Amino acid sequence: MPVHILDHPLASHILTHLRDKTTKPATFRTLSYQLSLLLAIESTGDIETENKTIETPLETVTGRVLAHQPLVVVPILRAGLGMVQPFTDIFPDVSVGYVGLERDHETAVARSYYCKLPPLAGRHVFVVDPMLATGGSAVQALDIMKAKGPKDVRLVCIVASPEGVAEVEKHHPGTVIHTAALDRALNARKYILPGLGDFGDRLYGT
Ligand code: URA
Repeated sequence: MPVHILDHPLASHILTHLRDKTTKPATFRTLSYQLSLLLAIESTGDIETENKTIETPLETVTGRVLAHQPLVVVPILRAGLGMVQPFTDIFPDVSVGYVGLERDHETAVARSYYCKLPPLAGRHVFVVDPMLATGGSAVQALDIMKAKGPKDVRLVCIVASPEGVAEVEKHHPGTVIHTAALDRALNARKYILPGLGDFGDRLYGT
């Protein structure tokens, strides 16, 4: 399965501070922004460009610009919100959709309680969720996105577990996953080890 692990000294540095339990929410938010920015750049490395001829102060030159086909970023609520701003900062024409998923206590299956999406047909969709743990929410989000005919759907996360990657591969083979780390395993409460704890709680100080 195409799992791309961010390989950059700065990414390792930021991730170590994110993992540190003494890191306070304000710093956690800044570090999340920085790491998500690196992931946004990494995960969009193959998007289409087209020729554009412009005048420099000295002569005419043909350069490349992003093709006019805005990307779509879709955070899984609520923790995914912490990864949206880097995409909207560097891709001014990006569209943002939202999907809210919660685990049904009876069935343990993720269920959508909110879904607001722009048109996805023919577009690159980036589902952002910082912690790919059991993979249940990611699979559910991929089901929803793929039903709307996008060009492709990629998952962008900060930490992934082997179990989550396997679950995504089982239900959506070949899905490209970008992550800053592939951690060891899930614990009995489905937290990632070593992980960084509850991302949403640490992001919002709850
Ligand atoms: N969600 C989190 O926020 N952390 C985990 O370790 C797993 C899921």
